[in-house]
Amino acid sequence: MFNYICEECGKGTVKEKVFENYRTKIKGYPFVVDKAIIGVCDRCGAKHFKANETKRWEELYNKDLELKHISLLPDEIEAVRKSLGLSMEDFAYLIGCTRQSIYNWEKKDREKPQSRMADLLIKLVRYSFEVGKVDVINFLTEEAKKLGITIEVAKQTSSTLIGNIIHLNVKKVPRDYFQKPKGSLSLAAVAVEEREITIAESLEQELTGILHYDYGRAALSLEIEKNTIGLKIVDFELVTNNDRHYIRQDVKIEDNRILLLSDTEYTEDKVREIILKPKS
Ligand SMILES: [Zn+2]
Repeated sequence: MFNYICEECGKGTVKEKVFENYRTKIKGYPFVVDKAIIGVCDRCGAKHFKANETKRWEELYNKDLELKHISLLPDEIEAVRKSLGLSMEDFAYLIGCTRQSIYNWEKKDREKPQSRMADLLIKLVRYSFEVGKVDVINFLTEEAKKLGITIEVAKQTSSTLIGNIIHLNVKKVPRDYFQKPKGSLSLAAVAVEEREITIAESLEQELTGILHYDYGRAALSLEIEKNTIGLKIVDFELVTNNDRHYIRQDVKIEDNRILLLSDTEYTEDKVREIILKPKS
């Protein structure tokens, strides 16, 4: 199918070659073709691709998506639409496509699945219908991870958090909590008590601190370990285990430390919750 003069060097002849497990990218995603037929120049080595061959790869890729169940299957799309109680027409209006597209995606013997963008949007709709509030960026990065792709998205800055409320849960963790990645925590059987610290952590773990009680000054403070959102001044409410509420306003964060209570008998293990309200 090749055997023509190479356009790259103008001298060699392009010869057919079969590549086993050929790595390529289709629609931006990594894909391995079992046996790829590619023309290679016998002089300069330039690769020449035939349109019908690359089309075959795309078809393999589409089948692979279906087999590995990466994209939603026809009956899954139909199920999402029906759970929302929508006709094909209204579902098309909802996600911004044509009725014909919905029809094609729901067809049992369809030739190719919906585009990844459409697939992600339908998955988001489904997830939102199931759980309500969705962290969209987190959802999308998790979906990318399923394809082996890690995407680092910049964190929220403090300016977007001003006025928001951050709930910090207080809990005991092993002393090496911050040194080891999550999931590899190992506890020696002995002296567990001594190896524990008390930390306060937000649900999304964007702010984490260690509670310290200074016996000399009878002061309780929070030392922030992870201040990825760059807080400077906060209002806070501290709730103790016996349900006392202490409210403080315009507290400065100095050297990553917030003085919570002074002249207090409340040690770190007597705190249940800290509610922070960033001011700057
Ligand atoms: Zn050549």
